[in-house]
Amino acid sequence: MPNEIKTQVLVVGSGPGGYVAAIRAGQLGLDATIVESERLGGTCLIRGCIPSKALIHVAGKFEAMTHAASENPLGIKLSAPPSLDMGKTIAWKEGIVDKLNGGVTALLKRARAKTVAGWAAFSDAKTCIVTGVGEPVTIRAEHVILANGSLPVELPGLPFGGDILSSTDALSLDELPRRLVVVGGGYIGLELGIAFRKLGAAVTVVEALDRILPIYDDQLTDPVRKWLAAAGVEVHLSARAASYADKRLLVDMGVERIEIPADKVLVTVGRRPNTRNWGLETMAVDMAGPFVKVDDQCRTSMKNVWAIGDLVGEPMLAHKASAQGEMVAEIIAGKKRRFQPAAIPAVCFTEPEIVAVGLSPDEAKSAGVDAVTGVFPFSANGRALSMEGGVDGGFVRIVARRDNGRVLGVQAVGAHVSELSGEFVHALEMGAVLDDVAGTIHCHPTLSEAFHESALRALGHAIHI
Ligand code: FAD
Ligand code: NAD
Repeated sequence: MPNEIKTQVLVVGSGPGGYVAAIRAGQLGLDATIVESERLGGTCLIRGCIPSKALIHVAGKFEAMTHAASENPLGIKLSAPPSLDMGKTIAWKEGIVDKLNGGVTALLKRARAKTVAGWAAFSDAKTCIVTGVGEPVTIRAEHVILANGSLPVELPGLPFGGDILSSTDALSLDELPRRLVVVGGGYIGLELGIAFRKLGAAVTVVEALDRILPIYDDQLTDPVRKWLAAAGVEVHLSARAASYADKRLLVDMGVERIEIPADKVLVTVGRRPNTRNWGLETMAVDMAGPFVKVDDQCRTSMKNVWAIGDLVGEPMLAHKASAQGEMVAEIIAGKKRRFQPAAIPAVCFTEPEIVAVGLSPDEAKSAGVDAVTGVFPFSANGRALSMEGGVDGGFVRIVARRDNGRVLGVQAVGAHVSELSGEFVHALEMGAVLDDVAGTIHCHPTLSEAFHESALRALGHAIHI
């Protein structure tokens, strides 16, 4: 590796924002260089989306087998409940991570993007020194794409280490904790908390607000609340964890304090943009609160410095980061692009799963839009019932303008609904009206028929309800 590199496009960070930006830049014939201090793939591939979904998958299988070992209506009999070899589970998950890490490495190579391993520290907006692996390398760039991502928020009384786990730690445990307390009932806390419960841990959730998953409305989170109650997961609302000692977590409930026994405490109270210790202050870019401020082309206030992904704000989702990365590379290559999606879909991989795209009924009302809503329950969907779904209170809900039927939002909750997110967001991006959805023949038997029926219901003539 030469100790000085000049490049057209320097990308910092190889998460789903950065690696996609570098690949697209390379595809478009730009000379691109990407710097990463850890493994290629970033939070999402190495210690986030993918490893968590792998663990959630194992937990689902384990739970199904546990049910099969007891009295169940499917006619399956197992002579004994399953047992878990956590080390093997984690090794399997690591195998998937290795495969994806190798895939990103190969894709960057194929796009002729140079990869520099180490930590990039900027001395001005277009110059950085990369240290940490071998000799330091100075990189001077015409364009810089900042994709430094985010880090877990630490609570003052519960610093990470020992029994206090970050999500990264929780995804690499070699043993199942007997009693796990999850602090923060948001995305990560509930996805992982539910997985650990299914694997057999006793799980308690401590949430500061008066409801779990506060970004979704009550109707959507109700089935998750019911699952937690049925699975024996205790949920403390309006509760803040204060400190931990002698395997007990001290929790502030306002007027009273309680102690919860815990072998491990998983702290998932949000993530903060990664803005420290890499010379951001030398780059003269404006900030928007804790985030780097960008416009609708992801330009910062400094010419030819761009920022994408978790670094620039909510939603902190992998597919948003990738869409921004792809767009910035195309703008640098001369294409006319803006980041103006009709909606950014979100999926929460809880039990059951939640999908949200566009406006909810309450959001449409707050925006002053006169909207109609159509709800279709999975209890009336044959495919859901034949997959043991439909009994969890799940449904699809469509929200549309009353005057012209334009679809404003689609949400769903239920087993396996994550895979419907593509159809929902496609409808919004294509500017569908209720008649478009109602007039589209949906395959039988599939869960997607519930989307069709929700549109029919909003139009006043659902068939199966
Ligand atoms: P990141 O993926 O955070 O990547 C940033 C990279 O930059 C890191 O690899 C870091 O090492 C590197 N870096 C930073 N600074 C420097 C520097 N100075 N020099 C060199 N390298 C540097 N999102 C979803 O959409 N779906 C999910 O199911 C989902 N599940 C998640 C589960 C968990 C447990 C977690 C923690 C997150 C999850 N997310 C999920 C969020 C998702 O991971 C992030 O939104 C996404 O990774 C953001 O991508 P990014 O490219 O902005 O940054
Ligand atoms: P989150 O914002 O989803 O949830 C944090 C929760 O912690 C909130 O409910 C909040 O009220 C609560 N909280 C905050 N301070 C607290 C305190 N002191 N005590 C108790 N509760 C407290 O954050 P997260 O779960 O850490 O996830 C971070 C981000 O990662 C998410 O916002 C999301 O963007 C991304 N993510 C996405 C997915 C997905 O797309 N399926 C999965 C995991 C993570």
